Formats: sequence, structure tokens, C-alpha cells
Amino acid sequence: MAGTIKLHPSIDNGLVAGSKDFQGGTLSCKCAKDPVTVRVDSQCLHNHACGCTKCWKPEGAIFSVVAVVPRDKVSVTANGDKLKIVDDKATIQRHACRDCGVHLFGRIEDQGHAFHGLDFIHVELSKDKGWAAPEFAAFVSSVIEGGTKPDAMDGIRAQLKKIGLEPYDCLSPALMDALATHAAKKSGVLQA
Ligand SMILES: [Zn+2]
Ligand SMILES: [Zn+2]
Repeated sequence: MAGTIKLHPSIDNGLVAGSKDFQGGTLSCKCAKDPVTVRVDSQCLHNHACGCTKCWKPEGAIFSVVAVVPRDKVSVTANGDKLKIVDDKATIQRHACRDCGVHLFGRIEDQGHAFHGLDFIHVELSKDKGWAAPEFAAFVSSVIEGGTKPDAMDGIRAQLKKIGLEPYDCLSPALMDALATHAAKKSGVLQA
């Protein structure tokens, strides 16, 4: 890819398409010894680049790459005693390795939340091939809050588009509609 800005290692050289029949894989933290491993028995959904300041990202990356999977498909398979919740007040409770800092999965415990039942994962933590590729970029303007200069934003948005990731400053229209639909049903404006 022509871009010179390092957005994230798994998108900087273009997107790698997922496999249709992919059934999931194992995520592993970065510890050389006794890594935390998490088994995910599902293809991921809504994989995207995220510019928020809360998602885990590798050293030097401007964006994280994060997807969701059904929470009942996620199980800790080794060294789960090393997991701690980064911020238990946050909507998404990110379970991170206390030694290397990698977030293995993020979970929403609020049963009233539109995305309850989905865990957030970073498929780059898996050596398994076939995960669905990122589809869009979310919270792009938020990278400024993470330290990116405002005058870099035009170049960043242009590069995301070139890679094939439409830049949004919230979530994608499909996910924003899902959130609004959930809210409208909750309030009674929309019949369930
Ligand atoms: Zn670790
Ligand atoms: Zn994020």
C-alpha cells in the first residue's frame, strides 16, 4: 500500500480476506512464558479498525483492529489467573494480561446494552488464518485524543479509504442503526 502512515500492522499492507468456512481459533497474549490463551469457536463479525483510546493496539499503531464474537463462544483455555479487568466502570470490561498488557477479550455485562452477548476480540492475537477482514474504520476522529496531530487527519482518512476501510467518526451505519433500534424498542417508539 502506498500510504506512509503506520495505521496498524494488519491493514498497512492491504486487507487479507477471511475464509467462508472459518470456525474460529485461539488468541494468545504476548507473554513468552505462560501466555494467556483464549479459544474462540466462531468466525468474527464486524471486524474494524478503531481509533478510540480504550482498545488495545500494538506498539506504534494509531488504530486498533477489533471484532465481535458471541460471548458463549469465548473460553479461557490457559493462564486465566493472569487476566485482570482494565476498568470495571467502563461499558466494555476489557480483560487484559497483567504481565504483557494485551487485551484478550472485552465483555459487556450490562444486560440492557444493545451489544450485550458479544465479546470484543483482536484477531491479530491468533495464528489461525481465515478470520474475516476489517470492514470499516470507527471512531477515526478519536485518534487525536490518542495523540495524533489534527493536521494528519486528511491523510489518515485518505489512506483508510485507499485500503478499503470507509472512515466513520462513530461506528458504521449498520451498527449505529442497531444501537438506535435497540433504544427505540426500549423506549417503545418502535414495536419490538
Ligand atoms: Zn501476557
Ligand atoms: Zn476502540
